[in-house]
This record gives sequence, C-alpha cells and structure tokens, in this order.
Amino acid sequence: MAVTPPKGTHDIIAAEALAYDYIESVCQHVASNYGFDPIRTPIFESTDLFSRGVGESSDIVNKEMYTFLDKGQRSISLRPENTAGVARSVISNKLYATADLPLKFSYNGPMFRYERPQLGRFRQFHQFGVENIGASTIYDDLETIMLAYNTLQLLGFKNLVLKINSLGDQITRNNYKSALKTFFGEKIDSMCSDCHTRYKTNPLRILDCKVPMDQELVKFAPSINQYLSENSKDEFEFIKNELNEFKIPYIVDEKLVRGLDYYSGIIFEFHYITSDGKDYGAIGGGGHYDRLVNQLGGPALEGVGFAFGIERLYSILRDENLLQEELIDNSCDAYIMTFGKKPREAGFELANRLRMFDFRVKINFEDKPFKSLFKIAERTKSKYALIIGDNELEQGFITVKDLTTKEQVEIGVEEIVDFLEGRIVR
Ligand code: AMP
Repeated sequence: MAVTPPKGTHDIIAAEALAYDYIESVCQHVASNYGFDPIRTPIFESTDLFSRGVGESSDIVNKEMYTFLDKGQRSISLRPENTAGVARSVISNKLYATADLPLKFSYNGPMFRYERPQLGRFRQFHQFGVENIGASTIYDDLETIMLAYNTLQLLGFKNLVLKINSLGDQITRNNYKSALKTFFGEKIDSMCSDCHTRYKTNPLRILDCKVPMDQELVKFAPSINQYLSENSKDEFEFIKNELNEFKIPYIVDEKLVRGLDYYSGIIFEFHYITSDGKDYGAIGGGGHYDRLVNQLGGPALEGVGFAFGIERLYSILRDENLLQEELIDNSCDAYIMTFGKKPREAGFELANRLRMFDFRVKINFEDKPFKSLFKIAERTKSKYALIIGDNELEQGFITVKDLTTKEQVEIGVEEIVDFLEGRIVR
C-alpha cells in the first residue's frame, strides 16, 4: 500500500492549515466588503462544461484534466478551476432571472490539474476566487482588480507586481490572431508540437508557450495593443488612469494572454518575488470574459473574476515572515493534568465546563508522570497547567501553574473560570 500522498498533492497540517484558514478568511472578508456572497459548486462537473467553458485549446482542458467515466458512463472531470462551475450554477439556478444583476460570488476550495509538480505547482491546489457575472461596465473590471490588490495589501504583501493587458473585443482578437498567424507562419515548423496545434486552434496560446526556444520567438511577435479597437483602447486607458489615481502600481505586459480561452478585454496577474529570490509563479490572476455564460447555454452576460492560489500566498507569507503568530495560534489555554481514576473524572468534567466557556483545553486520559505531562504542555504551547490529584480533589481546589512565569497558585474549583477569564486574552 502506498503511504505517500499521490504525486503533486500534499497534506496541510495543524499550524499550516490554520494559516490557510486565516488567508481564506481575509480573502472572504474583503470580498464580502465588496458585495460578494459565497458560493459552493461541485468539485466534479460534466467534462463538457470545461471543454466548452475553459476551452479546447487551453492546456488545462487539453492536457491537465482529471477525467473519468462514472458508473453511469458519464464523462466527469474534477474541476481545474471554478469560473465555469459558477457560470454553470448561475444558469442551472436561473439566478440571472431571479436576482439582481450583477451576480457577485466568491468561492474557495480545491482545484485539480495534472501538471508537472514543481515549486508552487501542485496537482491538487486551492484557490480563492470571485466572479462578477453580469458585469457590464469597465468599473466592474476596475473593482475586481482593486479587490484583489486590497486583499493582498491586507495580507501584508508589499512588493507586488501587477501585470495588466487588454485582449480587446472580438474584432480585436480576430485581427490579432490573423497577425499572429502571419508572424508565426514561416517559423511554426521550428516550434514545439503544442504550438503547431495552437497555431491551428488558437494562435494566442502560442504567447503562453513555456518552451525557451519558442519564448525567444514570441518576444518578437506583434503585440495586441496595435490591434485594439477604439472602445477597447479607451477602456484600457481608463483602467490605467484609475490605477494611477488610486496609486496602485502596475506594468503593462503586452504578451500576457492567460491560460484560459474565455478571457476578453482587461486581464491581469499578480506576481511576487521573495526577498531571497524565489518565484512561485503568479499568485493570482483573472480578467474579463464576454461569452462564457452564453457559450454554456445561458444569456449573453459578461463577467469578470480572478483567483488566488492559496499555496502560493501561504508559501510567500511564510518565507517573508508575514504570518503573525497570533493569527495562526494553535496554542492551548489550559492543560489539565490528572492522575488516577477520581481526579480524571473531575478533570474530564472541568475540561468540559471550560470548553463551554470557550477555552482551548487539553487533558491527559492516561496516567503519566507529571514530568512528561509538563513536557507535553510545553510542546502544545499551553498557557496554564491545571493539576488535579487526590489532594486537590479532597480539598476542592486546583493547582494552577502559569507556564510562562512558572508561578503556582491554588484556586477553588468554583473560581477557576473567573481566574482564567481574567488572564487569557482571546
Ligand atoms: P488560473 O486559474 O490558471 O488563472 O490560476 C489562478 C491562480 O491559481 C494562479 O495565479 C496560481 O496562484 C494558482 N494556481 C494555478 N495553478 C496552480 C497549480 N498547479 N498549483 C498551485 N497553484 C496554482
């Protein structure tokens, strides 16, 4: 039996799991300030949701999906991302007809991509993201970028790089795709086999190729900005001006296309290099999409959204010492130490009572020398040791030891809650 986790997956344990909870709760908190309600969609969906939504020409659908036939011979895929799932849910539940537009949702959970595992890249990873469906103005795009930026600020990210670009409207992209076909026409034979396919299905994807030789060629490819329609240009200018206005630094990356086919208009990505030079890849990204909902069989609603990679946010915050101890505190308020049957019964009752008062309490159920119990209390970062032996039981008090100052006092059983209330900051 394999006792290692499947390749590309990882266990997230104790303090690390608390850090994930903390990061997700900050994301959720900021998103709710921006009017986003949580949504939970299935972890698996019908495969064609992703082929129609995310796009046949994207690597994610083409090469990276976990797809299988269920017992009813339906083709099912583990979700590689959540935008298609949210759009599907809006359609399935006819939310566009029953709730006010735009529909604003935030989500949080595991995603699955069969990628080559490397620094910051997993096969099961977690995303927090938002979708604004029915987003009909450029303010929706601006708001989404600002939401992502403000979340990262609140989490403590200092040297962020925000990359933006515009993929323009349909006319822009068609003209640009023709220009790329012309540019890569005579070079395509020397490029990788994936680029051959991309050349035929969606030449925009060539710009995303990770093969170093191909990347060299991409540097000289025309940029989309020359092909932007007047309206797309105006929108792009608006975004840049507003970001300047709000003092949000950015760089325009004319080769940014992002890996999913549904994007149009403004797209963006956040990057961060740690102080010791580690690059975990983009920490989040997103953009505008104009046809996704319609392509999936819903009304012609546009949308905008983004997703953060929680593994990457966590790794950077950890490396940069930005996770404050108290925010991921898994310490214990009181460690109850008992010896013998009767003291154990009293200790069990006390643990129960203290937990009702919202204290974090641990207790030993097996007899062990007090010396080793103190060691455990130290390892579990307990603040107080509450000792109950035969003597304490007989006389109705508890020996309380402050494990920081090492001071020891005797407190009556009835006074213990007040005693701890006055000393433990929560
Ligand atoms: P995407 O859905 O491709 O736009 O990705 C959004 C964010 O999810 C990225 O910026 C990463 O932070 C994160 N992400 C994407 N793929 C992975 C992966 N394989 N492992 C860890 N994080 C990922």
